Amino acid sequence: MKILNPNDFFLKFQNCSFENNVMKLMPKTSLLQTFGQVFDFRGDADEEKFDFFYRYCQSHLDEYSKIYNFHPAYLYIAQNEYFNSVAQPKTNVIAISKEVIKQLKNFFWDNLDFENDQSLINFRDINKWLLAECNKSLNQFVFEFASFFSYYHELAHLMQEAEYKALGNTTSLNEYGYTNSNFNVEHHLREIDSDFFAANQVAYHVLSLYEDAKIFFNEVENEILYNIIMLSMASIFAYRIRHFRGLEDIYYYERSHPHSAIRIIIISKVFLSFLSKHSKNLTPDEQQILIGNSLGFADKIAGVNYSSRFSDLIKNGNDKIAEYWDYMSNESPKYSYLLTGRI
Ligand SMILES: [Zn+2]
Repeated sequence: MKILNPNDFFLKFQNCSFENNVMKLMPKTSLLQTFGQVFDFRGDADEEKFDFFYRYCQSHLDEYSKIYNFHPAYLYIAQNEYFNSVAQPKTNVIAISKEVIKQLKNFFWDNLDFENDQSLINFRDINKWLLAECNKSLNQFVFEFASFFSYYHELAHLMQEAEYKALGNTTSLNEYGYTNSNFNVEHHLREIDSDFFAANQVAYHVLSLYEDAKIFFNEVENEILYNIIMLSMASIFAYRIRHFRGLEDIYYYERSHPHSAIRIIIISKVFLSFLSKHSKNLTPDEQQILIGNSLGFADKIAGVNYSSRFSDLIKNGNDKIAEYWDYMSNESPKYSYLLTGRI
């Protein structure tokens, strides 16, 4: 699998505009009926955030769809409030609900005041440095980590389809329609696989920020670097924590999608092993502390108290999780279109 460094796309996305792409999408009316009409964010109070997210993702999608032979592919912001994000492999379209972007804007701009909030004093220097150096606030960075995660997850579903077709299959893998259906190992694997890909992609963004900070703040200032990793994990956790509502009890072999707590475990594993491999070697103890702190922080960002319920489980696991993981790991080689090969 060819993986591109997502940071390269910031250079390209100037050419991408809402007007150009949405006009091409409009004729696909059956799709819009299923997923909800296009949300035209021009003139919205949060236009800038929508526009940034939209242009980055669409230009990234253009590039990936060419490499994976599913060009043209489109992303749009949907009016629909009943789902968060969805990919329709048959038409190569990704829809992200406008409520996701609105909520993440609320989490990362409205709830995090790095300048004045005393409890966030540890992040003040990083924020100041980013504003001076990149003309971008820490709020913008964490918004990107979480919102891009939702897009990368859906992109992975389109890539799975492309791999599936490349194996000679003529039918289609469809995510839509099975969100609340019964347990199906293949569906669980697809979700895990997409989370793997998304966590890996976001880790690239974090690594790039982390490497720049390392030069500026001097390697001895470990606390600053630690805070960058902690906050970036918390931003993705906050995105996932939104899905905890109604899932207060852990489950394994039920429903079509893995439980959010299990997904957070997967994200943490991928994320921390990526950073350990490419930059900062984190001991198992350091990883446990990071995960615990990130969960607490995610609760703060999201204004909830969900993480504590699953905190021990996420940090320490249990026999059932180990068994679930073994099962998935043994099953995954049967589905050769999965991007990770073996979970
Ligand atoms: Zn999915």
